[in-house]
Amino acid sequence: MSSEAQHPVNLNTLYQQVILEHYKKPHGRGAIEQPTIVKSLQNPTCGDHLTVYLVLDELNQVADVKWEGSGCSISMATASMMAKAVKGKSLAQVDAIMQKIYAMIQGQPGDYKNIGELQALSGVAKFPVRVKCATLAWHCVEEGVKEYKEGGITNG
Ligand code: ZN
Repeated sequence: MSSEAQHPVNLNTLYQQVILEHYKKPHGRGAIEQPTIVKSLQNPTCGDHLTVYLVLDELNQVADVKWEGSGCSISMATASMMAKAVKGKSLAQVDAIMQKIYAMIQGQPGDYKNIGELQALSGVAKFPVRVKCATLAWHCVEEGVKEYKEGGITNG
């Protein structure tokens, strides 16, 4: 008999494990020499600093993504999760993921199964003070992409 059947997996614990795993073994940590998009933001209430680098290909897909910064485990883990989630995606797909994350973190009901491990961030909705930590990486992407679109394509 499976012990899981007797003791259902505690989702909060599972989510904490996902976040801890990303914190310990971050994806995409580092800098990119010549990014298409670079955006730095801070979260003064917690002391988190983050810079996100994106390289877009000719189809406006994320060919590469990296980030560097310092801060709490939530901000660092979500930067790692963001990097893993957006790589290879089009800007439209990135935007769709981002809107789901924002809705979920704000505690809005919805179907978040298709965002996979990013559901781990849903627990943050219960801790309003951590919402800014969990959305910092996504705000870097959002504002960076916005500036890129407003600035047009700078290929000389
Ligand atoms: Zn933080």
